[in-house]
Amino acid sequence: MVFSVAIDGPSGAGKSSLSEALADRLALIHLDTGAMYRSLGLQALRMGLDPSSESDAAQVLELADFQVDFEGKKQINRLRGEAVNSLIRTDEVGMAGSQIARHACVRESMLQAQRRLAENVPMIIDGRDIGTYVLPNAACKIYLDASPEIRAKRRQKQLEENGNRCDYDTIYADILRRDRQDSSRAIAPLKRAEDAIYVDTSTLSYLETLDQLEAIILDKKAEFERGE
Ligand code: C5P
Repeated sequence: MVFSVAIDGPSGAGKSSLSEALADRLALIHLDTGAMYRSLGLQALRMGLDPSSESDAAQVLELADFQVDFEGKKQINRLRGEAVNSLIRTDEVGMAGSQIARHACVRESMLQAQRRLAENVPMIIDGRDIGTYVLPNAACKIYLDASPEIRAKRRQKQLEENGNRCDYDTIYADILRRDRQDSSRAIAPLKRAEDAIYVDTSTLSYLETLDQLEAIILDKKAEFERGE
């Protein structure tokens, strides 16, 4: 068994950017599983299919030829051989990703792919169901949370910094909708694993959170190496 870190939590809690920074500090590979669902969501939009329909989702899976590989430590998400990393960060694609992620056929396919990727390589994996379903035996599980208001404010700031138009109420409503969608679905809903360490970042700065997470991971790694 290899040392794996599962980081789960709601949209906008900062999982992806913190995981990326932690992977750098700790010389681990980072697998962003949200990017996998986003890529399938993008494929649905490109094909004019409805990501909330199960049969459309099955068609997407069949035709997307979706692959994840790593160039050095960088995760590359490919649709029919085309790298789509820079196309999947919009809210529209995020919502399509969240809709397509509800279906059993999609979850099963991503679950197998994620387990295969993590089987022999120590990784930080972030998502919604990593500690509960994908890697229930992960040596380190963290549940990263923040209030919806704080997550919406952070998202607004991030959009503004990238020169995008943004309205707080729309962002806030979007976050609540995504939370509802992710935690109410029948299969692998967003839920804290019983043995996950809960970290609420609402009152912490980015750097404080990063330091706290690093300390948790190093502790768990030492336990893992002692065979505890
Ligand atoms: O984390 P991110 O916002 O990129 O994820 C996009 C969507 O993919 C989420 O809203 C969620 O519905 C879905 N997702 C999931 N399981 C994961 C990761 C993401 O269902 N492990």
